[in-house]
Amino acid sequence: MRTQFTLSIGTNLGDRAANLRQAVRWLAANPAIQVERLSAIYETEPVGGVVQPAFYNLALVGTTILGASELLVYLHLIERSLHRRRLVHWGPRTIDLDILTFGDRHYDTATLTIPHPEMANRRFVLVPLATVVSGDQQAWVEQLLAKTSDHNWLKKTIESGEVNSWIKNESPTR
Ligand code: ATP
Ligand code: CA
Ligand code: CA
Repeated sequence: MRTQFTLSIGTNLGDRAANLRQAVRWLAANPAIQVERLSAIYETEPVGGVVQPAFYNLALVGTTILGASELLVYLHLIERSLHRRRLVHWGPRTIDLDILTFGDRHYDTATLTIPHPEMANRRFVLVPLATVVSGDQQAWVEQLLAKTSDHNWLKKTIESGEVNSWIKNESPTR
């Protein structure tokens, strides 16, 4: 059974566009994962009080035959491959992949909380996400955006057409 999921991917160290492109290509390269849609890339103000460079963020819609915790294992593999170091909580990182939604399921375990508990407080998550989801999910994200107290800046930096071209002909099976 294939489940639709959404991710938020962020980076604020090194070549930020290259980090996002590599993470997306590694997702697309996994035969158990289908990358369906990518948002534009937004440059965004760091949230959470740590002084650090601005982020690049995007949202992704995919489908997978994996379970949510198996997907998380693969996301951590990508993070390790891009030399993510966990030094400061909410601090700078080469890459961060968070699962926002996984089907319509709810998880609350030691290693996985879905929907992502901070998404309602983060325009850098909600603004890109609203552009790639549809139907009830889009209405829900728009509602979260209308209610959020986050007012940090963000600006579209790389158009979605260019971002989606990263994965053209990259999926091994279609
Ligand atoms: P935040 O979760 O507030 O965005 P963060 O991304 O900086 O913070 P990390 O250090 O990347 O936090 O992740 C810590 C742990 O969070 C991960 O090892 C993972 O087990 C757990 N986690 C819980 N729910 C999720 C989720 N929905 N997506 C990704 N990781 C999650
Ligand atoms: Ca995160
Ligand atoms: Ca994370």
